[in-house]
Amino acid sequence: FSDMAALVEGYLKLRNDSRQTAQLRAALSREQRKAMLDPLTQLWNRAGLNHFLPRHQQQADDLGLQLGVLFCDLDYFKKVNDSHGHVAGDQALWETARRISAAVRPQDVVTRSGGEEFVVLLQVHDQQELLQIAERIRSAMSNKPLDIDGLHIKLTISIGATLRTAQDAPNEALKRADQALYQAKGNGRNRVEFAN
Ligand code: GH3
Ligand code: MG
Ligand code: MG
Repeated sequence: FSDMAALVEGYLKLRNDSRQTAQLRAALSREQRKAMLDPLTQLWNRAGLNHFLPRHQQQADDLGLQLGVLFCDLDYFKKVNDSHGHVAGDQALWETARRISAAVRPQDVVTRSGGEEFVVLLQVHDQQELLQIAERIRSAMSNKPLDIDGLHIKLTISIGATLRTAQDAPNEALKRADQALYQAKGNGRNRVEFAN
């Protein structure tokens, strides 16, 4: 009888422990998730970008696809704040996030990597597919002014694009996309540049 009691007690303890472990894990991932979300745009933040970059790379490898990186930066965004205030600027960032998200595919990862910068991770077959999506993002911004509380604000975006190669160190593709973005700014903004 006492053996049986010990067995039951042991079982209950085990079940309780594993439940606690599961809860801990769930709580942890919820916390992690929260730490990776940008509160203003509800996109992934930089920590999210760092989290998803290697995973998206691995997934691309498994699928026989290439990892594409788009480094997007709003043009003359400072002017929006200066002319219309920081609150309108925040709303413009929210609307930009929505337009970028609507321009990409469900499996693509859209992040707000910094202030008015958005990095998109994509799995593509080739450069053409990547540039097509980049162009969709660019035109989603330039086609129609933003409607911020009845104010129509024209805002464009510049995009640096690259494909990760097998020789690239983990952050190399990000750096190259950033350099391509710099080219896009220098070449007149509201445009996409690709870096090999
Ligand atoms: P460029 O075309 O060269 O990118 O010009 P820019 O004005 O967009 O670039 P710059 O780096 O000079 O200014 C970025 C501005 O973005 C400055 C900063 O006030 C604004 N910004 C960054 N984060 C936020 C934010 O969370 N909310 C608001 N409202 N503005 C932000
Ligand atoms: Mg900018
Ligand atoms: Mg910037």
